[in-house]
Parts: sequence; C-alpha cells; structure tokens
Amino acid sequence: MSAHPPTDRPAPYARFRHGSFECTVVSDGLLEMGPARDNFPTADPAEVDALLVQHHLSPEAVRLNENILVVDTGAELVQFDTGVGTDPALGRGFFGPGTGQALPALRMAGIDPGDIDVIALTHAHPDHAWGLVDPDGRPLYPNAVVALHRAEFDHWTDLGRVADAPDEHRKDHFRGAHKNLVPYAEAGRIRFLDDGAEVASGITAVATPGHSPGHLVYRITSGGATIVCWGDLCHHQVLLLQRPDWAFQFDFHGPDATAQRRRVYEMVDGGRHAVLGYHFPFPGLGHLRRDGDGYAWLPSELERAVPAEPAAVRP
Ligand SMILES: [Zn+2]
Repeated sequence: MSAHPPTDRPAPYARFRHGSFECTVVSDGLLEMGPARDNFPTADPAEVDALLVQHHLSPEAVRLNENILVVDTGAELVQFDTGVGTDPALGRGFFGPGTGQALPALRMAGIDPGDIDVIALTHAHPDHAWGLVDPDGRPLYPNAVVALHRAEFDHWTDLGRVADAPDEHRKDHFRGAHKNLVPYAEAGRIRFLDDGAEVASGITAVATPGHSPGHLVYRITSGGATIVCWGDLCHHQVLLLQRPDWAFQFDFHGPDATAQRRRVYEMVDGGRHAVLGYHFPFPGLGHLRRDGDGYAWLPSELERAVPAEPAAVRP
C-alpha cells in the first residue's frame, strides 16, 4: 500500500520566459490518432511500428498534443492557433471530448480571450482553426485580428470545393473553416500575411506551403534568441523528425510538405533556434539535434516556481 495521496495532475498550461517576452502554452487536449502506420501511406508499416517501440511509444495508439502558444510581447498578446473548438457537429464532435479545452485552459492560465490582440494561424485545418467561434458561429476572441496566409483563407473557405471532397470529414474541412473564418472576415478582422510579414514586434511569418496551401510557421525573436512555432510542419517528435521524407496522409502536397520540413529543420538547426511543436509532448518546447538522416527531439527544461516556505537550514 502506498502512503501517497492520489496523483495531482499538472495544470493544462505552462509558462516560460523568452527574452523580454512572456510565453504561455495552453493545452487544447489530446488527439487520439489510433495506429500511426495508417497515417503514413508511403512508409513501411513495420518500420513505423519499430521506430515507435524503440522510443517507448505505442504503435497502436498514437496521441498528438495541441499546444497553443500565447506570447505577451509587452505591447500585444499574440496567440498561435486555437484548437478544435467545441462544436458538436465539427471539432469536438469529430475529435472527442478530450479536446476543445483551449478556453478553460486559457482562463486557468489567467488569460482572458477578450485580451488577445492577434490570433496567428499556421493554417486552417480543424485542429488549428476550429476554435475561433462558438457552435452558433459567434467569435470567441471578440477583440482579435485573425492573421493567416491569403491562399489558406481562399482555399478552405471556398464552399464550391465541398462537392469534390472525397468524404464527409474532408468536406467538413471546408465547412468548418468557412464557419470559423468568415465571421471575422465580415467584421473586417482578417489580416493576410505574406512570407516575411511582421505579425507583431519580433514575430514574423515564414511561408511554408505544402502541408496546406498557405501554411505558415512563425519566428519569435527576443533577447537575441528565436523560437520557431511550427504548426503542422512536423506532427510527431519521432516519426517525421527521424524520417522527414515520409508523407503524412493529410499533407495537401506531399513533396512540398517534405521539402518544407527539410528546409525549416535546417533553418532551426543552423540558427540553433528553439522549436514550439504544436503536436509534440506538452508543452512542446525544445531543440533539434542531428541524428542520421533526420533529427532527434530534445525537450527543454522549464523553470519551476520556488516554494514559498523557506528552505530548511542544515545544521
Ligand atoms: Zn495539426
């Protein structure tokens, strides 16, 4: 019998300093992806399984985090992506009740959605953009401008593409993006970002089309250090870092997605930048280390609070 009380779970947010910026990562929850081998149509299934087992991960039940970064630059509050939302007909309805937790997690972290100035979207896929509105289509970030690449907005809000989508889930990609983005467009609160555009002081967009038509990653620089917030450039801390050439089933254009992965990995490695991985183990902050033809993931240590009680003095 253990004398320990039941385990307290860590809060669904984490906070760290980046130069003069205060960063908070809030969790929207966990996406249960099932067997990983089903998501990589070009890979040898046995090799996918073996790589996961080697890294102490289950080949049958791959879980992806949704790490939403909020950066306080001192002048503006910038949030990167929004999670799956709570619409029973869309986000949570598809991804399950363990997701769609961004707003309560934000509030636990002391952040009021009404204080967010900019929502910078990496792209408009369900798990990134479907948390912009409530199930009735009302904006959940009443004072935010939504920034994304124009190609991303134009593609996914085009309901004329629904008829040609191969299944209901992929039809919903268009319906959900339209439902979430159009209310902001109608309110004049969409801003289009080109490659190199400045989102806020120290934060710039890098065009990385491939996983989606207008995918962006963001460089966040303060105090001479840079974090690259990379959305779906890479979905998994083992599979697509070790094997950058495997196509992910939801890549819009597989060869372009692979080329962008390699390009950004080299940019991060060459600049010795940190990475904030949206789908990586919470909170998703770390570095890359070259490993064979790919990279290994090195999670960063976060500073903890110091107990208020004074440390015992040794005699
Ligand atoms: Zn994603």
